[in-house]
Amino acid sequence: MTHSPTPSAGGCRSTPVLKERGQREVFCGLTGIVWLHRKMQDAFFLVVGSRTCAHLLQSAAGVMIFAEPRFGTAILEEQDLAGMADANAELDREVERLLARRPDIRQLFLVGSCPSEVIKLDLARASERLSQRFAPRVRVLNYSGSGIETTFTEGEDACLASMVPVLPQTDARELLVVGALPDVVEDQMVGMLEAMGVGPIGLLPSRKIGDETAIGPNTVYALAQPFLAETHAALGRRGARHLPAPFPFGEEGTTAWLAAIAEEFGVSREVFDAVTEAPRARARKAVAAATETLSGKSVFFFPDSQLEIPLARFLTRECGMTAVEVGSPYIHEAIMGPELDLLPNGPRIAEGQDVDKQLDRARADRPDLTICGLGLANPLEAEGLTTKWAIELVFTPVHFYEQAGDLAALFARPMRRKAALRLEAA
Ligand code: SF4
Repeated sequence: MTHSPTPSAGGCRSTPVLKERGQREVFCGLTGIVWLHRKMQDAFFLVVGSRTCAHLLQSAAGVMIFAEPRFGTAILEEQDLAGMADANAELDREVERLLARRPDIRQLFLVGSCPSEVIKLDLARASERLSQRFAPRVRVLNYSGSGIETTFTEGEDACLASMVPVLPQTDARELLVVGALPDVVEDQMVGMLEAMGVGPIGLLPSRKIGDETAIGPNTVYALAQPFLAETHAALGRRGARHLPAPFPFGEEGTTAWLAAIAEEFGVSREVFDAVTEAPRARARKAVAAATETLSGKSVFFFPDSQLEIPLARFLTRECGMTAVEVGSPYIHEAIMGPELDLLPNGPRIAEGQDVDKQLDRARADRPDLTICGLGLANPLEAEGLTTKWAIELVFTPVHFYEQAGDLAALFARPMRRKAALRLEAA
């Protein structure tokens, strides 16, 4: 049985990659807390950082929708930063107060920041110490979300990677789907896989600590997000096997992603088609509605979320766009290889960033649509370029068939708005 999409003639796997290591314009890894705290219902994210970190989180998370928030900041004051106070003792007191007040917390993440790294606060030791103290009621883990070390989606990667070593061991054959998805999207995905007879299915992260899957040498895993390189390596160390596949964006990507799993679990072509035919048709129809605006237009990706290569593949193969440059903070061949095979030959592929050089290239290319971070969007708009904020692609449900139309519409909207403004001005 094969359900694989046809690779693009040439593809981009052997395209020389332009590697840049200059100044970058991206949010830090703390941003991941905004979606992780919604996903993990019994977790708490305690950022050990400064008032700047607290402000970033509050403004990125917007209005809190929970009576009790699931993240907070232990503020390092000047005397901590100057080494005049015992930051460890203060952290312990802060955790003690928090856990006494919040018996619903079952896992606590101590999240490192730029200030905690600058003063070399050892959060790995702190989490071990606090784990011993509060086990078995609370599991304490740590990871870094600092802007020195991470771009914004790497925060989720670091968080999930910190969980892998403590998951229980099993020899059972099972599928693990890795990467945080909105609950409604996750339910659609699990529903389709179960309808094909694939199972048992584990999720990382799970909604609650009690739903966690054990892992081991008979675990196969599929990545639902492309920015999970560290988690991918950690799962490999536990003996789990990766199923390389394109990512489930658009009709084609979703079909290819499901097909890789179906193949592994021996699902017949008939069953696969019976489960996917109707949603595939819906996805194609929904994407076609946006294609009118997108077809024949050019797109330029600044490196931001690590979703750039899969999204360029979707826009070029399903929406008729031409990619001129596809930049990504990192390109891991084991993860991105199947996407590069599908991406039609032609765009410059860039890894890392040297923002001034890249801005010069974008100005020279004058693409119809530029995908970039918030900080670059306004200046580029002022120069007459149409932009889309990359961060919206992470905050909006865009995976799998039922969201394919919304994904295409996210790119079509700024182009329609610009066209409407031009008409008004004429
Ligand atoms: Fe700023 Fe660093 Fe805090 Fe992120 S972790 S908000 S980059 S100080």
